[in-house]
Amino acid sequence: MQFASRLDNVETSAIRELFKLLGKPGIISFAGGFPDSAMFDVEGLKEASQKALTEEAGGALQYGATEGYEPLRNQLSSFMKTKGVDVDPSGLIVTTGSQQALDLLGKTMISPGDKVIVEGPTFLATIQCFRLYGAQLISAPIDANGVKTDELEKLIAEHKPKFVYLIPTFGNPSGAMLSLERRKKVLELAVKYQTLIVEDDPYGDLYFGEAPPPSIMSLSKDVPGSRELLAHCGSLSKVLSPGLRIGWMIAPPELLAKATMCKQFSDAHTSTFAQATAAQYLKSGRMPGTLAHVREVYGQRAQAMGAALKRELGGAVSFTQPNGGLFFWARLTGANGKLADANELAKRAIEKLVAFVPGAPFFAEKPDVATLRLSFATADIEKIEEGVKRLGQAL
Ligand code: PMP
Repeated sequence: MQFASRLDNVETSAIRELFKLLGKPGIISFAGGFPDSAMFDVEGLKEASQKALTEEAGGALQYGATEGYEPLRNQLSSFMKTKGVDVDPSGLIVTTGSQQALDLLGKTMISPGDKVIVEGPTFLATIQCFRLYGAQLISAPIDANGVKTDELEKLIAEHKPKFVYLIPTFGNPSGAMLSLERRKKVLELAVKYQTLIVEDDPYGDLYFGEAPPPSIMSLSKDVPGSRELLAHCGSLSKVLSPGLRIGWMIAPPELLAKATMCKQFSDAHTSTFAQATAAQYLKSGRMPGTLAHVREVYGQRAQAMGAALKRELGGAVSFTQPNGGLFFWARLTGANGKLADANELAKRAIEKLVAFVPGAPFFAEKPDVATLRLSFATADIEKIEEGVKRLGQAL
């Protein structure tokens, strides 16, 4: 079949093949990007969906506005206020997962050949999505404090990108957290170079100890002229339920209008039933309790994984203990003649019945084959310890 040429730039994900092996009996998987289904607040969501059907069936089951269901836009506006972002309900649109917000950004902003700066490494689906629209992706290096803003400035000055895409808080896959100082610097760069910055923030609420610095969107109130150059994507997926498919995007009015137009031709609107349920849930006041619960459980798992990695793999891997999110990002050091190729290790690990994702596909440029991503979200502490032990054996 003769497919559209836009598909020429995109391959099916290299890690898909690996996922096929995850069904092996007895396997312990650190490979997925899923939250743990056992954490879903099923009772709260039952009540919320019931209320949606009894109190507002006409809205919850009917076609709705492309921008989003009004009660949910109101709730999301209040939710963002608790996180220091002042946004009118009309200043955000509801999207079908934050993934759709990324797609809409691609659709509205990227013409074939346009340059977009992303972090190296970054979220794989973003790489694929932006490439589908013909973007030439430029990779900005990161460390444990997020994107290196000095390097970022050089790249912005050189490439004049259409926009810069960042996951500042507990990046996927990096787990890195952009420091407050660098967040401010990013805002200065936006203004200095008049460059749109996209802040993708599905993990910001998922912190384990101290809260992370305020989002870039929240800090924009201190940097005149920066708010007009910012888009912010949020999601209920990681803290409440990814199956609800509720995300949102805050952006300048002009961009929001174009994105809404594109969404109209794509899915008309996000499921009104899911939106009404999410709105009822946020209204119910259960969210703070849910957040406290997921922070605690994932925090314990992250601790357990960090300790196990140190114990079982010692100097063979380097990593920074993440303070939130779902992932460890590690690098094989090759010390003492140990393996330094994560692809090879992934194959051996599957034989030992443990799985993780090699890091190379997360780089838009210059892949680092020594890197790997380990999710601590879905295995309990016992499985985490056993899985890391197997990983040590594989190594
Ligand atoms: N952005 C990042 C960085 C992610 O890790 C994910 C989910 N893995 C998404 C966006 C999309 O999430 P959702 O569409 O479920 O909101």
